[in-house]
Amino acid sequence: MTTSSNILWIKHPLSHFTANNEDASNGIVIDQANGLIIELVAKNRTPITPIHQVFDARQHVLLPGLVNTHHHLYQTLTRALPAAINKSLFPWLKALYPIWAKLQPNMLSLATQVGLTELVLSGCTTVADHHYLFPDALYEAIDIQVNASAKVGCRVTLTRGSMSLGEKDGGLPPQQTVQTDQQILQDSARLIDTYHQSETGSMLNIALAPCSPFSVTTELMIETAKLARQHRVMLHTHLAETEDENNFCLEKFGLRPLDYLESVNWLASDVWLAHGIHFNDSEIQRLGQAKVGICHCPSSNMILASGICRTKELQQAGVKVGLGVDGSASNDGSNMMQEVRQALLINRLRYSADQVTHLDALYWATKGSAQVIGRDDIGELAVGKQADLALFKLDELRFSGSHDPLAALVLCGAHQADAVMCKGQWLVKEGKMLAGDLVELRQQHQQAAFNLCNEL
Ligand code: ZN
Repeated sequence: MTTSSNILWIKHPLSHFTANNEDASNGIVIDQANGLIIELVAKNRTPITPIHQVFDARQHVLLPGLVNTHHHLYQTLTRALPAAINKSLFPWLKALYPIWAKLQPNMLSLATQVGLTELVLSGCTTVADHHYLFPDALYEAIDIQVNASAKVGCRVTLTRGSMSLGEKDGGLPPQQTVQTDQQILQDSARLIDTYHQSETGSMLNIALAPCSPFSVTTELMIETAKLARQHRVMLHTHLAETEDENNFCLEKFGLRPLDYLESVNWLASDVWLAHGIHFNDSEIQRLGQAKVGICHCPSSNMILASGICRTKELQQAGVKVGLGVDGSASNDGSNMMQEVRQALLINRLRYSADQVTHLDALYWATKGSAQVIGRDDIGELAVGKQADLALFKLDELRFSGSHDPLAALVLCGAHQADAVMCKGQWLVKEGKMLAGDLVELRQQHQQAAFNLCNEL
């Protein structure tokens, strides 16, 4: 039931980005009781709705809460690890798999909380995580992540990842990290039944996500798609990240990665792919016709020297394009606002300076990302959308002398939000998380990371 005590006006923002063509120059009105945006206040206007509370945003740039479409939160435990740095994807994975295989439940819980908290502090309100490691100790990995993400308070899409093609069968991961197809499918069905919220405004979605073509069987790709469609949940995997992967698919299946994807019924609008770099022109057209989503991961692609996603051609063909920070072992941070800047910079290497702007990069991180993970209720400021907001102050030295506040956010390198709201509730105020003890969390996480990497 809506009462006037719940009505909050985010008043007179310094600047704003709605991710659509609507004008919110004088702010937005939120109903905190149901977590919705109920009014946009255009230039020279005041709200029609009776207001009970006001947030003075004269020093803030107002954005929709950012949406991260690809992460591996457990990897926050293996950042800047000497055994893995300065390598391309396949040798990097081979260095890390034996360490990741030792992951314990409390480690995953801490890693999930740390990564999500970093993201929220950077203005992110929705996170898709791709967890594909289920060694014996971690059979309930997604259940652990459900509990950990509830402590942080942001929205999550937890993708039930999988690996079933171990080294002895020609795959890349070591045998102790893979499960049987049957174990994977049973657990996937259980997780959807137990946790997936299909309604508008969902705080927790489940999606199904075989790790990549080089780590699962063909049968598992096919059966996973069938299961997801029975339950109307999204499908996710890594694809076309490296030339090594192209070669692997040609050798093993006699097909390029996209042909393989189509052969297992994955070329469809309920699928989003991480990276999507090495597609040729005709493959881009096919992706567009199928309305597939691509998660562009600029930092990871640069660190692993994987290549540059063809964002503009993909968009023009009809592909949904969003952003992701990717796992912390190939980023090595979890900061969505920094990723917006990285997206702008890497795309300037491929396209001319006037073809890709800070507004394009902000769009990818908001409405673009929301579309990629199949959501039309978040990612923009509009009446009826979820009240997920990020507010940035430009009061650090790095912004001094800047003129266009929205451009300054990206070009001067904003990295921390002053206030963040999810579903009408404040998660961050004055640059601080309102819940949890971050000093204690950091100490426990650092100790867990040390234990994981020194037990070998
Ligand atoms: Zn990834």
